[in-house]
Amino acid sequence: MKVLKFGGTSVGSPQRMMQVADIIAGVHGKKIVVLSAVSGTTNTLVSISDFCQNDQKEEAIKVAEELKEQYHQFVKDLFNDEDFVLRNIDFVNQKFADIKSLINEEFKEQVAKMFVAQGELMSTHLFTEYLSSIGKSATLLPALDFMTLDEYAEPDLKTTKVKLESALKSIGENVIITQGYIARNVSGGTDNLRRGGSDYSATIIGAVVKAEEVQIWTDIDGMHNNDPRVVQPTHPLAHLSFEEASELAYFGAKVLHPHCIVPAQMFEVPVRIKNTMDPKAHGTLISVEKDTEAAVKAIAAKDHITAIKVKSNRMVMAYGFLRRVFEVFEKYRTPIDMITTSEIAVSLTIDNNEHLREIKEEISQYATVEVDKDQTIICIVGDLIAERKGVGSAIFEALDDIPIRMISYGGSRNNISLLVPQEYKKDSLVKLHKALFK
Ligand code: ASP
Ligand code: MG
Repeated sequence: MKVLKFGGTSVGSPQRMMQVADIIAGVHGKKIVVLSAVSGTTNTLVSISDFCQNDQKEEAIKVAEELKEQYHQFVKDLFNDEDFVLRNIDFVNQKFADIKSLINEEFKEQVAKMFVAQGELMSTHLFTEYLSSIGKSATLLPALDFMTLDEYAEPDLKTTKVKLESALKSIGENVIITQGYIARNVSGGTDNLRRGGSDYSATIIGAVVKAEEVQIWTDIDGMHNNDPRVVQPTHPLAHLSFEEASELAYFGAKVLHPHCIVPAQMFEVPVRIKNTMDPKAHGTLISVEKDTEAAVKAIAAKDHITAIKVKSNRMVMAYGFLRRVFEVFEKYRTPIDMITTSEIAVSLTIDNNEHLREIKEEISQYATVEVDKDQTIICIVGDLIAERKGVGSAIFEALDDIPIRMISYGGSRNNISLLVPQEYKKDSLVKLHKALFK
């Protein structure tokens, strides 16, 4: 079994969907095809939801009407057969009637989740219909029948596995289509794996069915050695270990959802990133194998980081201090990314400021707290990186005139991280690129 995931741009137009059908036909054996929403749709649904939250229902309806028109055109361009066109126009109308009744409901968190689920529900339906219109059979398996979240809104792999295995038993078809992103929460309601979550859906599915491989089809030829939007030229990486890919996805490479490597790594399912626009390109293979040659592989950057410096008010009895600090972050379920410590102070970073005020207030009761927003983590990834002679000096030489706020070295053999003010990001990436990939 293989899992093939196609992102928003890969299903972003009728022509692209047709291409996806060709790609699937070229992959032998049984496969689960995970689709994102048509590109732009989830953003539009979020804006509809936001209008509702702000009690601007007329604006919400206007945006929904425009989106419906786009889907009508999409259907007309996707199908040749008049019956298919009519049937799918009806489907689109029904979907938008549902969206309209959601708009008219009283706004709640649950309503917001229902809005954003509609994109994947539409793309998968239309794609399954398209396959049928060209005489190819496929089964549409609703993700809400198996993809399950736990009480912390994280994927519940155990339940997902049981439900998916039982659903697969009754499907004889070789091509199974399902929605990325959406899932059922503990209350039984429609929920999701957060923005960009279709990658995560694919690796969760790949992990629980122990797939031979998960293919993430996107609009770039793999993970690159630096951010192509900031530095040119970059090149795709042929191979990454799970650890390297995980660090890159978490610390800024936009190609993958930050957590999607975790399930694949747990069950050692290889992940291959492929380019829909250039299917013959090698892409990036992410697997358990480690490249033997120690080397710097890639650089990534994560913006909107907040640095927090906590200085103990007491010079003695330093033990227990870190625990008290960390407990506050735990209480507010705010993950810490980077940490550095000295005798009397600890600096750490977070990427979610939702509870910053409470966190600051609580820690201020026994320590001095300084907060710096708008920082960037620069992450240098490779194998045995901390043991490789000359890497450290090359990095610091390259960043000679950049004010480095924090350094994390030696926490993992795959990663050296630096914190710099956001306005130095571009300069840092360019200079590191020159120094490390000569
Ligand atoms: N459609 C969702 C989003 O735009 C999920 C995804 O595409 O991965 O965030
Ligand atoms: Mg994505």
